[in-house]
Amino acid sequence: MSVLVYIESENGKFKKASFESASYAKGVADQLGTSVTAVTINSEENESLSTYGVSKVLNVKSDKLSKFNANAYADVISQATKSEDAKIVVLGQTANDKYLAPLVAINLEAGYASNVVALPESTSPFTVKRNAFTNKAFNFTTINSDVKIIGVAKNAYGLKENETSITVEDFNPTLDESDFTIHVESVDKATDKVTIADAEIVVSAGRGLKGPENWEMIENLAETLGAATACSKPVSDMGWRPHSEHVGQTGKPVAANLYIAIGISGAIQHLAGINASKYKVVINNDAEAPFFKAADYGIVGDAFEIVPKLNEKLKEF
Ligand code: FAD
Repeated sequence: MSVLVYIESENGKFKKASFESASYAKGVADQLGTSVTAVTINSEENESLSTYGVSKVLNVKSDKLSKFNANAYADVISQATKSEDAKIVVLGQTANDKYLAPLVAINLEAGYASNVVALPESTSPFTVKRNAFTNKAFNFTTINSDVKIIGVAKNAYGLKENETSITVEDFNPTLDESDFTIHVESVDKATDKVTIADAEIVVSAGRGLKGPENWEMIENLAETLGAATACSKPVSDMGWRPHSEHVGQTGKPVAANLYIAIGISGAIQHLAGINASKYKVVINNDAEAPFFKAADYGIVGDAFEIVPKLNEKLKEF
């Protein structure tokens, strides 16, 4: 019996969030006195998983699976779970992971806990701590099914290096032709920018910037930091920035390591989308702005003075 982890890749390269899932799987495996097996699809860098405690990789090579296909991918994970007799299946919380986990749960008649933030409190009964109410509270969930599926919240457990010797095997699941009757084409907008979902750092700005013509300093700061740019809802509603940048309750969730909020008041609907970020830095000229209560670091002052100075200073590093 091993712990199975699904490692997501894009164009043959692993998504960074998956290394956190692997680290978490190793932590659970250590609690249970077992090892970690990863299932990968069309990956070219399986050996790198040894850094995060994976001792075996089941790699599926199939042109049919070159594009994400939820039912087919869920079948692959389910078959790998059965072949390894795994009782714990770990995924991340990317959009694809969130799609896959319930399908795998149905296939395996397994209980699924999403947004898990820590190693199990106890393994018998199997109880995990999860984020609830847009990360404002925790709850503890006990999974009673034989197989248990865990979705690890981004940035909650972190990367833990744990060098392990690794073997890579080909895995040939049975694919159901009916899964391929509908062709889903995903079109990636050509952009050389970091996307909000993958970004380690997000530089976000709000109505305090007064108008779209003032975003150059935000983009410059984001470029210096290798960050994605984001904005509050009114900013995208007014067409100052594209809707794809709107974060919050009705926009995109952000689980970055560092979220810098500039000229954003910190309304609950905005905070709901960024609570999962690790460190929040706020720049606002109103010391009473609610965002300061949610911030780890705050600068009270005029963004038009502070942001260019901050950018110049950061360029020195
Ligand atoms: P404002 O509230 O106008 O704040 C601007 C801030 O900039 C102020 O704090 C001000 O002190 C500061 N400022 C002004 N000038 C400067 C300067 N020179 N330097 C530094 N700071 C300055 N909002 C979201 O963002 N995301 C959502 O998903 C979302 N969903 C919503 C869903 C619903 C159902 C509802 C009702 C609302 C939603 N909202 C959402 C809107 C939300 O309630 C707020 O209205 C919005 O977040 C405010 O945006 P803002 O902070 O950019 O603007």
